[in-house]
Amino acid sequence: MSKPVRVTVWNEFRHEKDSSHAASQIYPDGMHAPIAAWLRQQGMDVATATLDEPEHGLTQELLDKTDVLIWWGHLAHGEVCDEIVDRVQLRVLSGMGLVVLHSGHHSKIFRRLMGTTGHLKWREADERERIWVVEPGHPIAAGIDRFIELDRVEMYGERFDIPAPDTLVFISWFEGGNVFRSGCCWNRGRGRIFYFRPGHESFPHFHNEQILRVISNAVNWAVADNPGFDDVANERESLEPIGAKD
Ligand code: ZN
Repeated sequence: MSKPVRVTVWNEFRHEKDSSHAASQIYPDGMHAPIAAWLRQQGMDVATATLDEPEHGLTQELLDKTDVLIWWGHLAHGEVCDEIVDRVQLRVLSGMGLVVLHSGHHSKIFRRLMGTTGHLKWREADERERIWVVEPGHPIAAGIDRFIELDRVEMYGERFDIPAPDTLVFISWFEGGNVFRSGCCWNRGRGRIFYFRPGHESFPHFHNEQILRVISNAVNWAVADNPGFDDVANERESLEPIGAKD
């Protein structure tokens, strides 16, 4: 039997500690809690980490044994230390998967890996969203019907300032007329990156089994074919003797 996938769920965990915020009711233990519980149900080996822990909970030791990192941040992107961003980036380039959720589009690590601003249009009008599957054969869409429908969301609209995804798995339609590339795959170095749009802190989307299904699918995709070693080390030895030249 293969070893369970090792996942770390990272959450900023600030909205949920504010008792006047809806997030404190919807996610009393933080939105990382239902995500971690779901991934454990799928047989994964799950750790959690949050912004206010030392080193934001992302020690080198933990990252070295993380196959896939999940990232949710919003209010405090600027408080994430650049040194930790460097550390996470190097792990992604060395083969760790990264799943960036919702407002993580503006996180330092996502912008670093994309090389773009991550800017987008947004609106809070409690509108309906249909997240359409545009690559039904893709492993991240496994078990999802033609679309996922959410009754009340915060809208994210184009243009989303990202490099063209290597694969686009989902496109969202919104009641107010906007569209958005809501499930995007990229490769960076040996690492696989997936951005997934849902997850506004005021709605219970991380209690929605279809949303959770996409997240666990993305974890399995991001770890697949990971060779488990890095090639950052310099290889100076020649493969065979190099002949003398005149
Ligand atoms: Zn939001």
